[in-house]
Amino acid sequence: MPSNNRNANHSAVDAASIVDGAGRHRHADTPPLTVTLLGTGTSTGVPVLGCGCDVCTSDDPRDTRTRCACYIRAGALGLLIDTGPDFRQQAFRENIDRIDAVCYTHHHFDHVVGLDDLRPFFFQNKTVMPCYAHPDTAAVLRRGYDYIFGSDPYPGAANVALEEVDGPFTVTSRHDDPETLPVDPILLHHGTTPAYGYRIGGFAYLTDVSTIPPASFDGLDGIDVLVLDALRPEPHPSHFSFDEAVANARRIGARRTYFVHMTHNVRHAEANAHLPDDVQLAYDGLTVEVPALEPSGSTP
Ligand SMILES: [Zn+2]
Ligand SMILES: [Zn+2]
Repeated sequence: MPSNNRNANHSAVDAASIVDGAGRHRHADTPPLTVTLLGTGTSTGVPVLGCGCDVCTSDDPRDTRTRCACYIRAGALGLLIDTGPDFRQQAFRENIDRIDAVCYTHHHFDHVVGLDDLRPFFFQNKTVMPCYAHPDTAAVLRRGYDYIFGSDPYPGAANVALEEVDGPFTVTSRHDDPETLPVDPILLHHGTTPAYGYRIGGFAYLTDVSTIPPASFDGLDGIDVLVLDALRPEPHPSHFSFDEAVANARRIGARRTYFVHMTHNVRHAEANAHLPDDVQLAYDGLTVEVPALEPSGSTP
């Protein structure tokens, strides 16, 4: 299809072709992961500016939610998913000292505008940092950040390289070690916008999703820990409601599922009490250990 015909509904990338070559066998050598949820809130963050509701004024720290992002440590290698507007403070809070690559879920403000705060990660180490993205996401980033991604970048701009991906890829080290990490993008529909989730080893991070295309489930085989978009109890055109998120979590069948991207309609303690034991709300700073995958077929 000519690229000028392409729009959000007719992306050149389809779920089945992405999953082709993906699956658990690619992740057999992935070490245990340490996953930190840097932010777990919807696009406004919680508290919401100017709001005096019970959740926005709650003294439970789990009711304060910065914008969604995730940091994964696999051996020495550090992988970041999204750079939202709170990225700088999140990186301070979690002492992030190493980023080998960034995986972008999609182009919306709450997932990308912290991009420029990657610059300090080049002060000591000038090695290029790949930023993996869906071709539609990459097109928006290239337009929006011409001074970084254009042909004549601003001196001192982050040495990042946009990598359009339409299938599994391998992250390599920017440091003095031989670490590598296989990553599979998982195509999601965020309303009419294509978004990527990412599978790494026994972990999958699926934020900003209202439909998981049927073929995408094939890439989620054997997932142990799942992070899933769950905006609020009420339906929304471009995010899962709680019921939709629970139904999709059941279909994926992870041992544990954590919800993210919640609004101020959601009080942590109260909402958690109504969810199944294996499906719980995440909160900012939650760190989860994900074991290496069992060899397939070894289930008792
Ligand atoms: Zn979002
Ligand atoms: Zn509020």
